[in-house]
Amino acid sequence: MILVQGLKAFLAAELPQRTQEVIEERRRKLRARRFSSQNEGDAYRCIFCDHSYARFMKAGLDYPVIKEKKIVAGGLRDNVVCPACGSMDRERLARLVLTEQMGLRPHHDTLHVAPEPMLYEYLSKTVTGRLVACDLFPDDRPGVPNIIKQDLTKLEFDDGSFDIVICNHVMEHIPADVVAMTEIKRVLRPGGKALLQVPYSEVIETTEEDLSVITNAERIARYGQSDHVRLYEKQDYVRRLKEAGFDVQMLELDALKTYRRYAVNPEECAFVARKPE
Ligand SMILES: [Zn+2]
Repeated sequence: MILVQGLKAFLAAELPQRTQEVIEERRRKLRARRFSSQNEGDAYRCIFCDHSYARFMKAGLDYPVIKEKKIVAGGLRDNVVCPACGSMDRERLARLVLTEQMGLRPHHDTLHVAPEPMLYEYLSKTVTGRLVACDLFPDDRPGVPNIIKQDLTKLEFDDGSFDIVICNHVMEHIPADVVAMTEIKRVLRPGGKALLQVPYSEVIETTEEDLSVITNAERIARYGQSDHVRLYEKQDYVRRLKEAGFDVQMLELDALKTYRRYAVNPEECAFVARKPE
């Protein structure tokens, strides 16, 4: 065991970053192949690659606060990663909500913030309008071609540039979240819609937020992830979206239950924000 740890430490220190990533990717594929052969079945189907399995791979973080505050969409859970294509529960849900609930059409000009790889690949094949992928740290998303750097609190797009904005699991990282929401509203056309998923809790009294909390350990203890700056209370998150000027359409669990066969998180509702006409 000590030998194995020593070898791992040696490899981590000596091999170039890219080589380590290739090794990790091969390991991931091996794990996925083993999982696939042990979980044959058709209980769940992937909306992206059409493969079916008895279950999808488990993933997520496992910190005590996630259970204690019942944080939705963050914790260790079953049926997250598709063993065949690597898509995650959140991007399968996003695709279903975009196409079946938000009326995404090929001609829609679409902004995809912090793009999920399989969802972006789908959009790049189907959107014939303008499709822009952006991130504050574009180098962190090597699988997305043509991605540009954008700060959500000061987007470099004209007013009314997009019909659809997809920005999932981003707001909880941004200190000035209402400014970012207002910017998203600005770049949407009147009647345009944004899908703005975040992790949230329904058991806390109010949104937990303290910008003086800056260490990884403190953030993990309070919000369940080292780079989150708050934990939203569900209704307060809706209130903030309204404060930014959106009409908010909540898709509650009941409205999404037919999607469970695509291995979406059965506890995750959807937040659709619409710019008034
Ligand atoms: Zn798949």
